Amino acid sequence: MTTFPFSEATPVQFQALLPKTSDVVIVGGGIIGVMTALFLARRNISVTLVEKGRIAAEQSSRNWGWIRQQGRDADELPIMIEARQLWQQLAEECDEDIGLRQTGITYLARTDTEMAAFAAFVRIAGAHGVDTRLLDPNEVVDLIPAMSRRYKGGMITPSDMRAEPWVAVPAIARLAAREGVTIIENCAARMLDRSGGRISGVWTEKGRIATSNVLVASGAWTALFLRAHGISIPQLSVRSTVAATEPMPEIYAGAATDEHIAFRRRQDGGYTLASGGASQLYVGPDAFRHAIKYVPALRANPLGTRYLPAAPMGYPDAWSTPRKWDATQESPFERMRILNPAPEPSGLLSIERGFRELFPQVKDVRLKASWAGMIDAMPDVVPIVDRVAEIPGLVVATGMSGHGFGIGPGMGRVVSDLIQGNEVGHNLNRFRISRFSDGSPIRLGPAL
Ligand SMILES: Cc1cc2nc3c(=O)[nH]c(=O)nc-3n(C[C@H](O)[C@H](O)[C@H](O)COP(=O)(O)OP(=O)(O)OC[C@H]3O[C@@H](n4cnc5c(N)ncnc54)[C@H](O)[C@@H]3O)c2cc1C
Repeated sequence: MTTFPFSEATPVQFQALLPKTSDVVIVGGGIIGVMTALFLARRNISVTLVEKGRIAAEQSSRNWGWIRQQGRDADELPIMIEARQLWQQLAEECDEDIGLRQTGITYLARTDTEMAAFAAFVRIAGAHGVDTRLLDPNEVVDLIPAMSRRYKGGMITPSDMRAEPWVAVPAIARLAAREGVTIIENCAARMLDRSGGRISGVWTEKGRIATSNVLVASGAWTALFLRAHGISIPQLSVRSTVAATEPMPEIYAGAATDEHIAFRRRQDGGYTLASGGASQLYVGPDAFRHAIKYVPALRANPLGTRYLPAAPMGYPDAWSTPRKWDATQESPFERMRILNPAPEPSGLLSIERGFRELFPQVKDVRLKASWAGMIDAMPDVVPIVDRVAEIPGLVVATGMSGHGFGIGPGMGRVVSDLIQGNEVGHNLNRFRISRFSDGSPIRLGPAL
């Protein structure tokens, strides 16, 4: 079985020279950084995006490719609705097929409790004009007839979409570069430079860029980067395993999941498979530091996460990862250009078994690839999108908590306006950094 398409052997595609100055510097070339850069460039703002490895080589290519309004936190939904429109625009603007298809997303329920949760979301969706509706057991059978299991019912959002992550995000980065964004791969940001309390530049491994505005959109590395500047956020990362089948007969054109198995038709005719919600947390110093904030999530889904005593060397929360360095030293970021966790063997087996059991008549299910990603998680399963009060000029957009691919274009537009000091058009209160320190209770968003 092959592994993931991006590795350090992947040729560098973006190698602009490091500019001396830039209006905005973006740290991280995942979907959030790339989309924000594109929107800033469209306002004639000079933007430099530095990526320690390859564009989209971490979460933004490893994900399932679901672009879903369905099941979103109520405060994310308006941004997601905007994102959906932006995806359609992007598919036209990129010179290549990013695999965007409106094929719907379906959740399947085995219990009345799950159906009640679906019904609650249908009300939220309805209030925003989204076409989510409940399915009765017969409608589920009509929708995906090959399934061996009978369900209590389901929930579907026909306007939800899918795209091919490792095609789409690099394609959008090429669009951004054409529109003037300076993108530099193999270029870790080591430290912020500050003078008079505010940002004056960014030290990268290739030198300094003078700037007064920085976006940290560094996915699973964000807490480590911020901590070196005295800012603590309760972000952890969890490993999630994915598999891809060879092309096979179509069983459903869209994406669907129950609590055990998730599947999504890919453009090449195969399916991307995962086990709905199972993940592993490598326990490290940050896991101890922030444990208490994760208690509500743990109570809500006590069996969802398995704990492993230590992360492999070089991971953001590994015991031996340095927490302090200076701008002249090699940083933990360039030591691990691509966070490429091994897929979990037992997880892979259960994915394969789960899919075969659900579709016993499909005889020829062959896995052609497997990989894993480190999901950047927050205690309440919603991101941080905010200015950092202590460091004027610094904006953070992180902790997308396993659902940042679909919403990425919307978040990028919002963050670009936040950086410019414009009205962002959505209420970002839910996503403020201070919610973890101002005494607010942890209010859990939906897990999937
Ligand atoms: C297995 C899996 C399945 C998922 N499924 C879905 C899905 O179906 N739908 C959905 O909406 N979301 C999904 N997600 C979540 C989604 O992929 C992420 O929320 C989203 O990609 C996060 O984007 P990002 O730009 O914030 O972070 P990332 O994509 O992780 O990008 C951050 C980048 O920052 C770079 N970086 C870090 N530190 C530095 C530094 N100091 N200097 C320079 N560069 C740096 C990293 O190398 C990385 O490339 C899934 C995630 C995983 C792992």
